[in-house]
Amino acid sequence: MTAPTPATIAANPLMARLAPGEATTDRIAWVKLSLAVLPLKTPISDAKVLTGRQKPLTEVAILFCEIESANGAFGHGFSYSKRAGGPGMFAHAKEIANNLIGEDPNDIARLWEKLCWAGASVGRSGLAVQAIAAMDIALWDMKARRANLPLAKLLGAHRDSVRAYNTSGGFLSSPIEEVLESCARLKDKGIGGVKIKVGQPDPMVDLARVEAVRKLLGDAFPVAVDANQQWDRPTAARVGRALEPMNLFWIEEPLDAYDAEGHARLAAALDTPIATGEMLTSVAEHFELIRNDSVDFIQPDAGRVGGITQFLKIMALADFKGLKMAPHFAMEIHLHLCAAYPREPWVEHFDWLEPLFDETLEIRDGRMVVPNRPGLGFTISDQARAWTVATHEEGKRG
Ligand SMILES: [Mg+2]
Repeated sequence: MTAPTPATIAANPLMARLAPGEATTDRIAWVKLSLAVLPLKTPISDAKVLTGRQKPLTEVAILFCEIESANGAFGHGFSYSKRAGGPGMFAHAKEIANNLIGEDPNDIARLWEKLCWAGASVGRSGLAVQAIAAMDIALWDMKARRANLPLAKLLGAHRDSVRAYNTSGGFLSSPIEEVLESCARLKDKGIGGVKIKVGQPDPMVDLARVEAVRKLLGDAFPVAVDANQQWDRPTAARVGRALEPMNLFWIEEPLDAYDAEGHARLAAALDTPIATGEMLTSVAEHFELIRNDSVDFIQPDAGRVGGITQFLKIMALADFKGLKMAPHFAMEIHLHLCAAYPREPWVEHFDWLEPLFDETLEIRDGRMVVPNRPGLGFTISDQARAWTVATHEEGKRG
């Protein structure tokens, strides 16, 4: 880098303090990790519970990361785990967090690599990268706050609101009367679409539930289903064909999450779009779906794939293949990423995480509105602090 000219320095006084070759002087001074346990109001079941693979979900473990620089810039991020894994993520993050101290917080991609290789012995996917996700998201939040921009604007937004659908009304643990009641309520409140769970031992029960929802909401209202990896290939093909007249906006996780070939065959056989990807925990795993034409909608989860830095790679690959996108869960992060995706996506409205933050997201005319606050646009609530069961700090607050 050549030394700045006097005219450049006059236009940007910050540059006067920089030595040639040094783009910034600020450094990460403090990192705080917190593990909080968020209780759910009612235990939740999907198809994985019906088959005995998993227990009903009663709580979500949240790994928060807060970062402050020597100059006082601040950012926070989070990742999460359902059922087991939260304490493991916290333990892994605790071991590697000191790698951030003294680093330039702007160099997020390089820091991701550094954190990843610090713990690469346990892999570059899964729990190891989910621990990094909280730190990576905190760095992106800091960068956007420093620029005084919502994260969507820092990334470069294609839209200032995103179509929003709701999942919370259609769990298999809810009787159909309750599902219908909540679908009607959601539509009245202005949601853009609803998704209900399927994957009952008897597919006829699923079909009856979907038909009832379709009848209630009308032919044009967006309705999707989610089988949570319950079906084998023949069942998915058979139920998928039976669902074609329902005009669903997608069938989600019809098959095992790693069956890229099975999803590709199903996507080719059905008119109804196929969606999957939420259970995958790396860019490499998503690349399998993308290159095999396995899906119409790719469903990455920034917390699961290692944060925003990795999510952006999936966005680029998916866009190149012409895929649509509907990220999984964590709307507080994904709203910004959806706003920056070139093809009109869907964001999943899940109110579970709302008690963790002081601010809430607004839904208007079926769309979730990008908040006009810097960064992700959230403050960690006192309630989240009260639910915190462990903390760990590196470095010193300025
Ligand atoms: Mg799902």
